[in-house]
Amino acid sequence: MATPTHNGIPIVLTADRTLMAHYPTLLDGMMATIQTSGVPAVVMRRLLAPPMPHPGGRAARAPLGLRRIEAALRRDGFDPRAIAIVSPERLDEVVGPRTRIVGLSSGDPLGRGMTNTTMVAMSGGRLYTRTWFADACARLRRLRDGGLDFHVVAGGPGAWQLANAPATADARGIDHVFLGYAERDVADLFGRLMDGEVLDPVLVGRRTAPGDIPPIEGPTGMGVVEISRGCGRGCGFCTLAGEPMVHLGAERIVADVAANVRGGCPSISLISEDLLRYGSDGTTVDPPALLDMLAAVRGVQGVRMIQVDHVNIASVEQFSDEQLRQVRRLLRAGSAHEQVWVNLGAESAAGDLLTANGLGGKIRPFDASDWPRLCENAARRLAGCGFVPMLSLILGLPGETGAHVEQTIDLVRRLEGLRAVIFPIFHAPLAPGCRPFGLDDMTASHWRLFRLAYRFNFRWIPGLFADNHRAAGAPWWRRLFVQAAGRIQKRQWQLKFIRRSGRLRP
Ligand code: SF4
Repeated sequence: MATPTHNGIPIVLTADRTLMAHYPTLLDGMMATIQTSGVPAVVMRRLLAPPMPHPGGRAARAPLGLRRIEAALRRDGFDPRAIAIVSPERLDEVVGPRTRIVGLSSGDPLGRGMTNTTMVAMSGGRLYTRTWFADACARLRRLRDGGLDFHVVAGGPGAWQLANAPATADARGIDHVFLGYAERDVADLFGRLMDGEVLDPVLVGRRTAPGDIPPIEGPTGMGVVEISRGCGRGCGFCTLAGEPMVHLGAERIVADVAANVRGGCPSISLISEDLLRYGSDGTTVDPPALLDMLAAVRGVQGVRMIQVDHVNIASVEQFSDEQLRQVRRLLRAGSAHEQVWVNLGAESAAGDLLTANGLGGKIRPFDASDWPRLCENAARRLAGCGFVPMLSLILGLPGETGAHVEQTIDLVRRLEGLRAVIFPIFHAPLAPGCRPFGLDDMTASHWRLFRLAYRFNFRWIPGLFADNHRAAGAPWWRRLFVQAAGRIQKRQWQLKFIRRSGRLRP
């Protein structure tokens, strides 16, 4: 690699290219991060995950985690000119002799997330999150081979995968893996690295009190704004199981929303592990706190579409229909957003199976025997109040029997006709060396469940995209492309069902 003609920026922050693309909606981001090499690279780079604009040589929008690190470094005394956030393709423009640290974030660096292992099993090929993370590492390696000397610190939601695979991390040229939240410790750790101190290969950030989380100073990818962090419900397979849920104050949330709007990102995504638990202490919900916060966010001048992600089934049960309608009214007020989707982690209709797998926390304060009723009620009531419930199901939980799968099939059958989408995913244990559930483990019942679920998806997902694109003002070419690509993918999945299980109908 040629010697750079610039001195470089001391601290460079980047992420794998799936996180650094320019998506109009949260749905687009979710769709892109599950794609495999079955989608040609040029289609992926130009259309599904289009390049991020870089006005003035810096990413116009950046993943929330990188924005928080940038804000924490500035708060703790680093010169803003000493920090640059760029896409991996732009690393050559900012990494030079003065560069001391490159922070590299990824959501799924080794392709071990449950949704993604399922996509690889079903679609074949290699995940783009994995390929593009490796590409970013290779780019950094070439820069180092060219004589530059900087530390590579990998972090982000998928950092646990690298901590569990030290040899792979080493082979990728990663010097340190950063686990946990970074705001409290990043300035100190980066400062020590820059002073030449030798630190452990795995660094762990300490929890930060919500009041000490620094406000972001620029827009985020998909307008992501954090409203709560952690969960603490204790599910055995989840990295957030032991992280108690804390909530950011409405004032801080409004400031982060305003930073997005000011930076040209009027469609925002309010992120938490359970929207409906906002403002509560423990698992008992506090609807007025949520409604007040949403009203404050809706009051930010220039806000367009407000997207959300997860809600917990046990929290839905504690909201009245009128309160759910009020939530939806505030989310969509003044926008063309009709189909407000929410992610519901049902995982299985068998409450005893969830409990046996340490997932009983999901059901609290209700009883495991209530779980099928709670799942059905939550989906029906949300749909009745105008939401689109998006249920996730986990296949192959340890101890799962044919009867458990049949119970889940019954649940899905009872939901037929509802405007809902349902994603079955394969169980993938967090512990290193444990074998994930795979295609070879699929029984006839699993296939039937898959086909039933995808009947919902084939029917409702195109409209969901069309609605969300319209509400966010996505460019016409993208709307057309996504609809056309969706039709092709639907045919591919239908063929797969026929090839693998001999039929298309459940
Ligand atoms: S409820 Fe969801 S986020 Fe919370 S611990 Fe369980 S799986 Fe994780």
